[in-house]
Amino acid sequence: MSRTVLVTGGNRGIGLAIARAFEKNGDRVAITHRGSGAPEGLYGVRCDITDPASVDEAFAQIEKDLGPVEILIANAGVTEDTLLLRMSEDQFEKVVDTNLKGSWRVAKRASSKMLRGKFGRMVFISSVVGLQGNAGQTNYAASKAGLVGLARSITRELGSRNITANVVAPGFVETDMTAELTDDQRKAYLETIPAKRLAQPEEIAAATVFLAGEGAGYINGAVIPVDGGLGMGH
Ligand code: NDP
Repeated sequence: MSRTVLVTGGNRGIGLAIARAFEKNGDRVAITHRGSGAPEGLYGVRCDITDPASVDEAFAQIEKDLGPVEILIANAGVTEDTLLLRMSEDQFEKVVDTNLKGSWRVAKRASSKMLRGKFGRMVFISSVVGLQGNAGQTNYAASKAGLVGLARSITRELGSRNITANVVAPGFVETDMTAELTDDQRKAYLETIPAKRLAQPEEIAAATVFLAGEGAGYINGAVIPVDGGLGMGH
């Protein structure tokens, strides 16, 4: 059965791999972008998830063109790394407003139609860093840990209505975000990852598509690590 899927930040990186995987599954896929346009063959809407009006407009457009969003993948995210003592209010707020509040905004907007349709799947893309912390990422780690509480609260509110809210916690993935790592940082991270390699975006997409699928209807409020063993035990 073909479903309507929205992937925030689906114009590149992990989000794009997720969008392509749902497309391959035969679903109707919408992605958001902030001006880059949609990649070849994908349906895109312009949306800045830090702006509630922009979120509302994007959903209204998707509802008109593809139908109500049945599967929401809250993937869009940013980093703004620096040590605690140097981090400004703005740097903290920007990251939390995008990664955590932006995900809450899209989940809230999607939930009314999911309730009406008596079906919904939400997947929040967190990070291993949200579970084990990382020096220089107090803003990012806090925002990603917050997604676990967000998903689990949604599970408790809406779990009886055939709506699931789960979290995928990737380790380090080959995208623009990790292209910023220095060779030394990359080498140091590789030493700590049991798989001894970074993930490909498609490996995050596979877990995400699974959580939205028929077979995962009884998985709710779960945190699924896709991290090559990096965060084991969390
Ligand atoms: P990229 O930096 O490659 O892409 C980030 C995406 O988020 C882009 O599509 C970007 O849009 C979008 N975005 C950022 N801010 C906003 C906003 N305000 N409104 C709408 N869209 C926005 O990141 P990745 O693909 O690497 O990461 C995707 C997700 O996975 C993020 O949440 C990230 O934290 C998480 N993650 C990534 C890991 C990694 O190693 N790469 C590891 C663990 C988690 P635009 O193109 O317009 O900038």
